[in-house]
Amino acid sequence: MPADWLAPVRAALDARGRPLEIFFRDDDAGWDDGRLFDLLDCFQARQVPIDLAVIPQVISENLAEALLGHWRRNPFMLGLHQHGYSHHNHESQGRKCEFGISRSEQRQFKDLLAGKQQLECLFGSALDSIFTPPWNRCSQATADSLIKLGFQALSRNLGAAPLYTGRLREIPVAIDWCGIRIKSAQPWMALGQAIAEALHPSHPLPLGIMLHHAVMDDDDLEHLQALLQLFREHPNTRCRLMRELLEDAKAQDARLSACSLESHAVLAAMRSYLN
Ligand SMILES: [Zn+2]
Repeated sequence: MPADWLAPVRAALDARGRPLEIFFRDDDAGWDDGRLFDLLDCFQARQVPIDLAVIPQVISENLAEALLGHWRRNPFMLGLHQHGYSHHNHESQGRKCEFGISRSEQRQFKDLLAGKQQLECLFGSALDSIFTPPWNRCSQATADSLIKLGFQALSRNLGAAPLYTGRLREIPVAIDWCGIRIKSAQPWMALGQAIAEALHPSHPLPLGIMLHHAVMDDDDLEHLQALLQLFREHPNTRCRLMRELLEDAKAQDARLSACSLESHAVLAAMRSYLN
C-alpha cells in the first residue's frame, strides 16, 4: 500500500475548521454475499456506519435475515434501502438504466411499488425510505413515482441532471471508489486526491462515498480500512447514516418553517400596530 495515498485526505481534514459529515453507500446488496460480509466486517472493525442499497428481486431470505440480525444488534451502524427493482437495463441504446426515459411512469411505478413491498416484507421498520437507482440514473417519472409512494429521499451522483423532486430530498454521492480505482494508472493516489478535493470547503456536504462490494478485491478492502481508520480517528469527521442526514434536514426545515411563521406573526403584529 503506498504509504502516502491518504496524505492529501489528512491534510484536507486538518485544514477544516469544524467537523464535516461523511456517509458510505454500498450498492448491489444481493450480489456476492461473501464479499458483502467482508465489507461489513471492515466497517464493523472500525466502528463506522454503512448504508446498503439492496436489490429487491435479487436478495435472498438468508441474506435479509443476516442483515436484519446486524441491524438489530446495532441499528446505528447499518442503513438498508431500496436499489432499483431487478437491476436490469431496460434501455436499448445509450447508457444503462433500469428507470430510464424509455419506460412509462406506470411501468416504473409498478416496479418501484413491487420492490418497496418486497423489502418492507423482509426488513419491516429497519427499511429506510430512500431510493438509489441502479447506475445512479433515473428519469422525472421515477421522481414522480417515488413522491407518490411516499419515499423521502433519492440518492444519485452529485451533479446528476436536475429533476423536480418536490418534498423528496436528494442525498448524492460524490466519490465513486471503484470507478476511480479502475480508471486510474495510480489508483490509490487518484482516490486519495479525489477524496481530498471533495473535502474542500467549496464542495457541497455531506460527502457521500459510493462502494460496490461485488467488484472490490482484498486490496480495495485493505485501503478502505485505512481510510475508515483515518475518518474514525480524525476530530474533523463525523461518519453518519443516510437516514440520520435525512432526519437532520427535516429538523432544519421544521426550524426554518417555525422561524418563518414567527416572522409572519411579527410582521402581522407590526402591521396592525401601524394601522
Ligand atoms: Zn447497482
